[in-house]
Amino acid sequence: MKTLDDLGDLRGQRVLVRVDFNVPLDGATITDDTRIRAALPTIKQLQQAGARVILMSHLGRPKGEVKPEFSLAPVAARLNELVDADVKLAPAVVGDEVKALVDGLGDGEVLLLENVRFEPGETTNDPELAQQLADLADVYVNDAFGAAHRAHASTEGVAHLVDRTAAGLLLQKEVETLEAILADPKRPLVAIVGGSKVSDKIGVLDRFLDIADHVIIGGAMLFPFFKAQGHSVGSSLCEEAGVPLAQKALDKGGDKLVLATDLSLGKGFAADTETQIVDGVDVPEGWMGLDVGPKSAERAAELIKAAGSVVWNGPMGAFELPPFAAGTKTVAEACAETDAITVIGGGDSVAAVVQFGLADRMTHVSTGGGASLELMEGKVLPGVEVLR
Ligand code: ADP
Ligand code: MG
Repeated sequence: MKTLDDLGDLRGQRVLVRVDFNVPLDGATITDDTRIRAALPTIKQLQQAGARVILMSHLGRPKGEVKPEFSLAPVAARLNELVDADVKLAPAVVGDEVKALVDGLGDGEVLLLENVRFEPGETTNDPELAQQLADLADVYVNDAFGAAHRAHASTEGVAHLVDRTAAGLLLQKEVETLEAILADPKRPLVAIVGGSKVSDKIGVLDRFLDIADHVIIGGAMLFPFFKAQGHSVGSSLCEEAGVPLAQKALDKGGDKLVLATDLSLGKGFAADTETQIVDGVDVPEGWMGLDVGPKSAERAAELIKAAGSVVWNGPMGAFELPPFAAGTKTVAEACAETDAITVIGGGDSVAAVVQFGLADRMTHVSTGGGASLELMEGKVLPGVEVLR
């Protein structure tokens, strides 16, 4: 993969940088600026090299229309506080006004284009939009790992049309870290696959059944496994289409698969519901399994502490509800304490680790849920491939 260091002298060069500024918003207030801060090392390095920095990102799903509630204006305001430059927001993605603003940029200055998804050609990877974007720049850098699994005009199309291209520092770190742990993991490699649906995770599950030493299953994903084994699942979230997939994984996984042996149940999906812990995995009628039980969490923690590498995707239970956060928290604490390399990917698992205040005790916390999942599955990411 080509990196910033391969780009040569950047003084006075127009560098178009795809970043992932798809931040959560409450009205015009950014509730978590992690993604903006994650892009700062690349922006700063380019500024210091004397480049004229043009940033572009998507935000939400405006579906190819200009919708003010999806404007990047709040992001531009936050960037102004974080970057040593007066960051201007362009009124559009491409067009004459944008060109004029780009022409007016001085060395080390920063311009943010409007939400690329205001353009209908973005998600269709329209060659004309890609060309208009390419015309703005001498150099293209992709630092939007969270969007690298999409072949869009700003992540893929444009990269074919600019001569000098490279991965930004964030994208480079994400790809190198995830690829290294998959290609040559320090053993034992423990994979934890949780979350809501087997069908979402069957790709990673399959891959880890090939390469990991232990595969711990958590979350509502457990119930298709238990159903396949003939247990009662009560009113637990149990994806029907997941049952045959779980059966296949059971056949393939053998001793590698670590399923829960006890469960934390609730009467409903609510924080104030009646709860009970059961030894065993049969869920009585009228109850739902909302977290793994303490024995199962402890077993997972033991494996994590004895591991050489840990990859975790998907929470152990409905951690958003305080009575059912314990399993996920025990796993997160074990990941924080272990000497193993720990990589956390997946939107909700990352949110859990952040919520417990343990993110900075992990080796790597991925900024891209879908992208890290696809990379772990062994899929080719179009936004990365084009930079090789
Ligand atoms: P990630 O984003 O980390 O890949 P997923 O999106 O697959 O994870 O799953 C996260 C969701 O799964 C959370 O919203 C959580 O509440 C839900 N979940 C986990 N365990 C259960 C369970 N036992 N019953 C219902 N929902 C669950
Ligand atoms: Mg999720």
